[in-house]
Amino acid sequence: MSFTLPNLPYATNALEPAIDTMTMEIHHGRHHKAYVDNLNKALDGQPILLAKPICQLLREISQVPEAIRQAVINNGGGHANHSMFWEIMAGGAGGEPTGPLADDIKASFTDFATFKAQVKQAGITRFGSGWAWLVLADGKLKILSSANQDSPYMAGQSPIMGVDVWEHAYYLKYQNKRPDYLDAWWAVVNWSAIGERYAKAKAGTL
Ligand code: MN
Repeated sequence: MSFTLPNLPYATNALEPAIDTMTMEIHHGRHHKAYVDNLNKALDGQPILLAKPICQLLREISQVPEAIRQAVINNGGGHANHSMFWEIMAGGAGGEPTGPLADDIKASFTDFATFKAQVKQAGITRFGSGWAWLVLADGKLKILSSANQDSPYMAGQSPIMGVDVWEHAYYLKYQNKRPDYLDAWWAVVNWSAIGERYAKAKAGTL
């Protein structure tokens, strides 16, 4: 058993111009691949841990031996976060959520524009490397951010949507302009995929 790098569900140029082709090639083919390789290295000789789905491994992070726990947090988190990230984007996407997710975003954050502003603010204010998230926590939608590759699963939360604010996610095209990247990112957000993740999270199967 070992973890494997998932294929991108689209071509590396599919998210142009919001996310450029070279960034996608390096981000998926090198960064995400390194998280997977290093996760497998850390779990070498741990068949029980290697057999867990990645979300379960992170939810049960306290069961990982202390000597390898930080490596699993970093690389297992990196694997889970990026697998989610590719899934919730698509070329020609964008627009607005529909159905229960749209209703609950409105109920939780006033309206879609306020929601977007709060996600952007979470991404901008995350100092250094990390992620901005929409999570389901205790049955409620929340916007928050995490450092490095820390996964919401470790805090008992379900990550519905997340945007990578590590410099490797945007630097080639946007350099130091993280707010511009966060503005452009909405054009490739796949709301139907996020709506499916929300339904799964509510059912306890995400
Ligand atoms: Mn990344």
